[in-house]
Amino acid sequence: MARAAVPGRLSWRAVTIAATRQETATARTLVLDVPGWPGHLPGQHVVARLTAADGYSSQRDYSIASAPAGAPATATDSAPDSDRVELTVQLTEDGEVSGYLAGIAEPGDRFDLRGPIGGWFVWHTDDTRPLLLVAGGSGIVPLMAMLRTHDQVKSEAPVRLIYSARTPADVIYETELSERSRVSPLAVSYAFTRAAPDGVKTGRINATTFAAGAFPPRSAPAIFVCGPAGFVETAASLLVDAGHDFAGIRTERFG
Ligand SMILES: Cc1cc2nc3c(=O)[nH]c(=O)nc-3n(C[C@H](O)[C@H](O)[C@H](O)COP(=O)(O)OP(=O)(O)OC[C@H]3O[C@@H](n4cnc5c(N)ncnc54)[C@H](O)[C@@H]3O)c2cc1C
Repeated sequence: MARAAVPGRLSWRAVTIAATRQETATARTLVLDVPGWPGHLPGQHVVARLTAADGYSSQRDYSIASAPAGAPATATDSAPDSDRVELTVQLTEDGEVSGYLAGIAEPGDRFDLRGPIGGWFVWHTDDTRPLLLVAGGSGIVPLMAMLRTHDQVKSEAPVRLIYSARTPADVIYETELSERSRVSPLAVSYAFTRAAPDGVKTGRINATTFAAGAFPPRSAPAIFVCGPAGFVETAASLLVDAGHDFAGIRTERFG
């Protein structure tokens, strides 16, 4: 990361979609070829810019889903360059940019990308505190980059994920999450708001969700919360009410 010049990060790069992967009926991962990618840290995002033939353009922020190549230990360490970056885009109804990225775009298509961006909502691999991740909907994306990095560097920090989704079919990365919780110390708890498996109640996150799925405040976890603004505010309030130190909670709102 250190060797990536700041102007390079802030300038637009032309990227090519190398492959796509359908994650749910409405969410898709784009594997991008990004020549000269300087590397990133788990939790950072990019800006994607689409430009139509008539010159009209739109840009939106998207979190990086993939782990950095070689996963640097700290913000100032260098990560080996890799020209592949993955984004996962959830289709928003009538959404201009997500409609294209999650629906229409195909391998070979090109668009512009700027980044990586952000130094606050980032998990550093030398952080040994228990890691508590709290996701609402597509807010799982940057947290998945953290989980993948945690695994890549063989971190011994205990890790838990609380993930709120509308239904089990809306869980992004479901297969990977269940495999990771089978073979690693990751514990995942779900809150389904609209439909749940037999015997499981539906409901929004509440104090019980955190009492059951979070680390206790005395273990002073590093906490990352990501999702729609309302979800993030509710989750952060519940965590503080449960006794967690506000200073240990980092949030990212998807607008
Ligand atoms: C830091 C960050 C990271 C993000 N990471 C991700 C990610 O990893 N994955 C992901 O899927 N999303 C992510 N997002 C959200 C993403 O940036 C977009 O907001 C999202 O994809 C919707 O964009 P869109 O162009 O498809 O929708 P838009 O066209 O912006 O529309 C959004 C909604 O608003 C409605 N709308 C638009 N214009 C109007 C209007 N004039 N009046 C009334 N309603 C209107 C639309 O009908 C639609 O329902 C992130 C956001 C941030 C800030």
